[in-house]
Parts: sequence; C-alpha cells; structure tokens
Amino acid sequence: MTIHRKFTTILRKLVYPSRCPGCDALLYPEEQSIGFCRSCHATVRYIGDQVCVKCGKPLEDNTREQCGDCSRRHHYFVQNRAVYLYQGAIKGAMYRFKYSNRRNYASLFAMDAWNQFGTWLNSLRVDGVVPVPMYAKKERVRGYNQAQVFAAQIAALMDVPLYDRLVVRVRATEPQKQLDDKKRKKNLENAFKIRQSGVKLRKILLIDDIYTTGSTMDEVARSLLAVGVQQVYCLSICIGKGC
Ligand SMILES: [Zn+2]
Ligand SMILES: [Zn+2]
Repeated sequence: MTIHRKFTTILRKLVYPSRCPGCDALLYPEEQSIGFCRSCHATVRYIGDQVCVKCGKPLEDNTREQCGDCSRRHHYFVQNRAVYLYQGAIKGAMYRFKYSNRRNYASLFAMDAWNQFGTWLNSLRVDGVVPVPMYAKKERVRGYNQAQVFAAQIAALMDVPLYDRLVVRVRATEPQKQLDDKKRKKNLENAFKIRQSGVKLRKILLIDDIYTTGSTMDEVARSLLAVGVQQVYCLSICIGKGC
C-alpha cells in the first residue's frame, strides 16, 4: 500500500458523511465507504473519461472530441472536469449541500473527484485553488459558500494554497438557471473583481458547484486572465449532459 493510498483510506473513514447525501437516510456500515445508500448510489453517475475535452460533459459518441456547445463557443478556461452528472440522488445532495448546511458532504465530493481526476489535477501543477465567490450579503445569510467548502478540501488533497479571497463578487446577480444563454452572460458582466494578492499566480484551478453552460466559470476566468493569470482550469461537483 502506498502512502497516498493509506492517506485516502484514513480520510475516508474519518470524514465521510454518516447519512446519505441523496436521501438523508442513515448509512449502513457497508454503505459508508461508498458515501451513498444503495438505492441512491444506483442513480449516481460518475463522469469518468469519455467527456468533452473542453468542458468535461459526458459524450455518448466517443469519436467526438468536443460537445456541440464547445465547438460553437470560446471558453476563457482551458478545461473543466466534473465529478457527477446532475441527475438522480445528486440533485437532492446538491440541494442539501447548498441550503441545509451539509458542509460535510464536501469530503465525499472531494474524494470522488480525487479518485476520478487525481492524476489530472496533479499534472496541472497549479499555483492555487480559487472558489467561485458568492455575493457577500448572500453568503452571510447562508452562512457559507458551498464552492469554497469544496475548494478547501480539493486544495488540501492537492497540497496547494486556497485563495478564497482573491475573487470578489461585487454585485448580486440573478440565479443563472432562470436565464437563457445570452442573458446569463449579460447577468455576469463585470460581476467579479480580482483583489491584489501580492502573489504571482500563473495557473489556477477554479472551483464551482454546478456547471451548466460555463458562463460563470468563463466570466471569472476572463477576469483572472485580465490581471495576468496565464491559465485557468476548472473543477465542478456536477454537470449536465453534453449535446
Ligand atoms: Zn440515499
Ligand atoms: Zn464541451
């Protein structure tokens, strides 16, 4: 057993949620190592390798490199990868993670990210991990930013610094899910400011909870590139299907 493997095994035992993130039922001991109850786990789809090389959406046709969206539009980030398909039990899990203070789900999400993309994440050699920020007032009401909670776990696994105050959301934006693609872009225009950190960051891993069209990742990435960051890679907890 390598040191790395030993470390992940210990982490699994210590921090995994004792209730199923999908349905909130208490987990049997044999389910705890998976992180979901048996019936929720049957609906969980881990994204894996057969994805759009750019945005990380799963592709049905493995002869294609990119999804329809990415072949039509420019992204400011280099690549995104996502852990789960946004369907089944993951929908309930994301809701509780966001609105019901289940911050402890982050350890499961991060370990599932690590199991799928650990090699990729290490190969990026990023200078730091940055969560997509929430508007400060909204974060005060909720008590936490779920992207920041997940990002902290990923930074710890990668052993790189977390810069959770580098990007600031300077105005409240409407929830993206209610808007079409054009309005999403407009909604986010100049919504983010980059604070001077005094540290020169060349490569960043940007973290969000749900990837839909990528317009949020793009807008934060655009703002980071404008202040001299050279490359932005992204990691999301979940993502929709590619077309
Ligand atoms: Zn369940
Ligand atoms: Zn794509």
